[in-house]
Amino acid sequence: MTTVATPANFTELGLIPPLLARLTELEYQQPTPIQAQAIPSVLAGRDLIAGANTGSGKTATFALPLLQQLSQQLETKKASAGKNSQGNYVTGLILVPTRELAKQVADSVKSYAAHLNGKIKTVAVFGGVSANTQMLALRGGTDILVATPGRLLDLISSNAIKLDKVATLVLDEADRMLSLGFTEELSALLALLPKKKQTLLFSATFPEQVKSLTQELLNNPFEIQVQSADASTLVQRVFTVNKGDKTAVLAYLIQQHQWRQALIFVNAKHHCEHLAEKLAKRGITAAVFHGDKGQGERSRVLDGFKSGEIEVLIATDIAARGLDIEKLPVVINFNLPRSPSDYMHRIGRSGRAGEVGLALSLIDYEDYHHFSVIEKKNKIRLEREQVEGFEVDEVENAALLAELIAENKPMAKPEGTGKKKRKKKTTINADIWAGHSELE
Ligand code: AMP
Repeated sequence: MTTVATPANFTELGLIPPLLARLTELEYQQPTPIQAQAIPSVLAGRDLIAGANTGSGKTATFALPLLQQLSQQLETKKASAGKNSQGNYVTGLILVPTRELAKQVADSVKSYAAHLNGKIKTVAVFGGVSANTQMLALRGGTDILVATPGRLLDLISSNAIKLDKVATLVLDEADRMLSLGFTEELSALLALLPKKKQTLLFSATFPEQVKSLTQELLNNPFEIQVQSADASTLVQRVFTVNKGDKTAVLAYLIQQHQWRQALIFVNAKHHCEHLAEKLAKRGITAAVFHGDKGQGERSRVLDGFKSGEIEVLIATDIAARGLDIEKLPVVINFNLPRSPSDYMHRIGRSGRAGEVGLALSLIDYEDYHHFSVIEKKNKIRLEREQVEGFEVDEVENAALLAELIAENKPMAKPEGTGKKKRKKKTTINADIWAGHSELE
């Protein structure tokens, strides 16, 4: 994979004036590394494999060239065909794993297209809402379609859209799409696409399934790897806590640090409500966001969080990917994610696009082993810290751990829990947090 170089100016990337004008309006002063490296190749028609997370600026990396190509095609076709979108065809297809991401990407595409005089039609389709409105929107075809795989297949089977003329395919968050069980849908969709097309694949991680997908799909691709959860902008910390103290520690941290906003991850839908109730008893109002909420409710919560009206949001991993919440000061893992790659996705919600961010994980003795696995897989190593006033009862923890081990559950002995080697205890104090004052 290519290592990133110093970003160039947007003007040097070969973008047309209406797009440049929009970027100036959006106050994008310089391309992010992925934009600087990939946009010229994508404009030249090359396939792309990008190891990139949300926050890297990946949406513009595919959206700007796509808009430029469509706009230029429209210019050349002007005399004859007049419109890009015809029949029930789609020219640029962007596949995404979740409905939230579908809406977000479509909104970004529309925003980047603001000075293309409404020439490019962009539609988003996703499940969880009635298909009728989406069918109506697709009438006459569309230039850019942002879709989740399942709903797209439904719309194809009702003849609302055809994929025979797709010229560019974007697979956004390919790893997430496969891990959410879209493998069969994806194969079915890929079989409907023309062989000759440009393919751009974005994935935060590259498990085997994604690797074989890239081999199957891509032709001499340009490769780039970038990290959005950049060590210089995102501070990761882990706190060991007594099992019974987690909620109290969370409430303490929220109240103590008065973060402008906090995103808290739990592992199950019902935990969201449960934790919200427990926080409410401690005087903290939190909204919840998970897959059992209706689409309307999810949109309302997301809008409220984006606008800053909601300060504390408790979410399952559905929120971990793709959500573009500006300048989120802190992400807290109340429960650890099952997969080490989800840890990276979760913490990527903070420290976005060069902002300083903070990712905290609260771990009790049952989490020690799993957190070590997360560290190992992600090639990180964090010092175990404790929160003043909530020191871990190490004797009790050692006993609980011994019980777990006796029950034959694989559980690593955490550093500092043993009798002999006590770890250096770090407590939160004004000095430690001073560096984060800009977050608040
Ligand atoms: P993305 O990774 O595409 O979800 O983008 C993350 C955030 O960065 C979004 O809020 C974008 O609007 C913003 N962004 C993307 N590119 C740039 C840029 N070159 N300069 C400043 N902000 C950017």
